Amino acid sequence: MDISRRSFIKWVIAGAASASPFGCAPAGKGGPTVPDARLGSETNKVCHDVRDGLMKSGFPPPSKSVDVVVVGGGPSGLAAAERCFGSDFLLLEKEPHVGGNAWSETWEGLDYCTGSAWMAFDNPEVVKLFDRWGLTLPEIKGNDSAHWDGKWIKDFWNSDPDFPSYAQLPYPKSVQDDFRRFVRETRKIDRVNDAEKLDAMNFSDLFKGYDGRVQQYWDYFGPSNWGARTQDTSALVGLTAVHEWSPCKRNTYEGGLGMVTRKLFAGFPEEKKKHFLTGAAVFAVRKDGKRVNVSFMKDGKAETVSAKSVVMCVPKFIAKFLVTDLPEAQTAAMAKMRYAPYLVYNFCFDKVVWNLNYDNWAIGAKHFTDFIPADYATHADGGDLSRKQVITVYAPKTEAARADLLDDEEVLAEAHAAGNELCGQFFPSWVDQLKEVRVYRRGHPMPMSAPGSWSKLQKTTPLDHKPVYFSHTDNSGTVSDLYEAALGAIKAAEKALTHV
Ligand SMILES: Cc1cc2nc3c(=O)[nH]c(=O)nc-3n(C[C@H](O)[C@H](O)[C@H](O)COP(=O)(O)OP(=O)(O)OC[C@H]3O[C@@H](n4cnc5c(N)ncnc54)[C@H](O)[C@@H]3O)c2cc1C
Repeated sequence: MDISRRSFIKWVIAGAASASPFGCAPAGKGGPTVPDARLGSETNKVCHDVRDGLMKSGFPPPSKSVDVVVVGGGPSGLAAAERCFGSDFLLLEKEPHVGGNAWSETWEGLDYCTGSAWMAFDNPEVVKLFDRWGLTLPEIKGNDSAHWDGKWIKDFWNSDPDFPSYAQLPYPKSVQDDFRRFVRETRKIDRVNDAEKLDAMNFSDLFKGYDGRVQQYWDYFGPSNWGARTQDTSALVGLTAVHEWSPCKRNTYEGGLGMVTRKLFAGFPEEKKKHFLTGAAVFAVRKDGKRVNVSFMKDGKAETVSAKSVVMCVPKFIAKFLVTDLPEAQTAAMAKMRYAPYLVYNFCFDKVVWNLNYDNWAIGAKHFTDFIPADYATHADGGDLSRKQVITVYAPKTEAARADLLDDEEVLAEAHAAGNELCGQFFPSWVDQLKEVRVYRRGHPMPMSAPGSWSKLQKTTPLDHKPVYFSHTDNSGTVSDLYEAALGAIKAAEKALTHV
C-alpha cells in the first residue's frame, strides 16, 4: 500500500475537508468522516530571534515586581512554582499551555501524549512527592516487545540472560546466545565504582565481538529513550538500561506523563493559577543590583518584571542565551550539551489494533523506533476490543536532521512515510481503522545522554548564579526524566526563596 505524499499532506492539514489517503472513502456524504487532524509544534520564534541576536524590542523598565520568577512551565517549572505558592511568584511559559515535554492532548475523549511516556516509583522522595500531589499512576504490566524480521516477541528485552524471549529470536542459536552472552558479560562491569570512567566511554565500544543485532536493538532503544544511538551514548547509561530497566516497575496514566502535568495544574488553587502566564516567551534575564529583571514577549509586546530571585526551568541551550553575565566556563559547558530533535505521531484508530505490550520496538523500521498504545496502562488485559485506540509513535531524529523540522512539508512527508511504514508494511490491516494522524514536533526536546554529559558538563552547567538558579531535566541525572526534574526544581525553588 502506498499513501501518496501530496494527499497525506493535504489530509493532515485540512482534516475533515479532505480525502483520506489511507484508503478510507472520502469524508462527507456517504463515506466515513475523517475528523480534524493537525500538525502541532512547539513555538520557537522568540528563542530563534534571541539566538540570532534579533531581539530589537529592547528591555522596557519593569512594570511589575514579584518575589520569584519561574521561567518555563514544564514539569520542573510546575514543581518549582508550587514550592513558591507561599510567596508572590510569577511563572512565564512561552507555549499557550504548561506541561513542556510532558504534554497530552485528546482525540475523541482519548488522552494521548505528545512526549513523555512512563516513570518509575523506585525513589522514596518521588513516592512522597506524588502522594502529596495526590497523583496515583497505574502500573504498566509486562516488558517491551520487539520486532525481528516479521516476528514480534512479547516481553523481549530482559536483564536475565536466561529469559526465554531470546530463544524466540528468528535467528540461529549463535545469535540468540550472543544476546544472552552480552547480558551475562556486561553484568560483570562495576557500574558504581567505575561510573565516571564508563560515562567517558561510548556504549558502542561494548558491542565488539557480538552479533550486530545486539547493538541494533540498542540503536533503536537509545534514541527514543535518551536521544542517542549507541555511538553517541555514554556506556554508563547504556549499561544501566541493559541491567536495571527491565526489572523496574513502570507507571503511567492513560495518555502518558502529560497527564501528570495536566492533573497537577488542574489541582492547583484557582488563585495560584493566576500566577501562571502562558504565551510569555522570556528573552532576557539580567541582574539589576540585588534584583533580577526578566524581559519577555507577550502578545507581540515586550515587558519586564523585576524579581528578588529567578528559577530557570528551561533547557541550557536556551538558558545560555537568556541569562547575561554567566561565567565563561558555564556558558561553554551549556553550549556543549547536546539535544536530539523529535517527532511524535499519534495514530487514531476507530477500534483496538494493538495490545501486545506497552512499548513496542520496531527493529528494522526506517521512520520510527517504537510505539505505545496510549491506553495500555489500564487495558493491558485487552478490555473491549471495539473501543477506539490511539497509538503513540516515537520518531527521534538526529541532530543533523534538526533543520528539516523547520519545514512543514518535510515534517508531513516524514509523517507520511511513517504512516506508510506502520500501516502499510508492518500492519497492513490497520489502515482500514485509521481515522486521523496527529504530528507533534520539537527541535531540542531530548537532552542526549552523550559521553561526559553526566560526569563532566553537569558539574558546571547548573551552578548557581545567585539570585538566579538553574533547574530543568538537563541539570542532573543520566537520562532525562520527569520525576528527577521535579525533585531538582523544588530544591532550586528553595534556594530562590532564601532571597524572599
Ligand atoms: C518524546 C519524549 C519522550 C519522553 N519520555 C519520557 C518518559 O517516558 N519518562 C520520563 O520520565 N521522561 C520522558 N521524557 C523527558 C521528560 O519529558 C522531561 O524530563 C521533562 O519534560 C522535563 O521537564 P522540564 O520542566 O525540566 O523541561 P521541559 O519539559 O523541557 O520544559 C521546559 C519548558 O520551558 C519552556 N520554555 C522554553 N524556553 C522558554 C522561554 N524562552 N520562555 C518561557 N518558557 C520557555 C518550554 O516551552 C517548556 O514548557 C521524554 C521527553 C520527550 C521529548
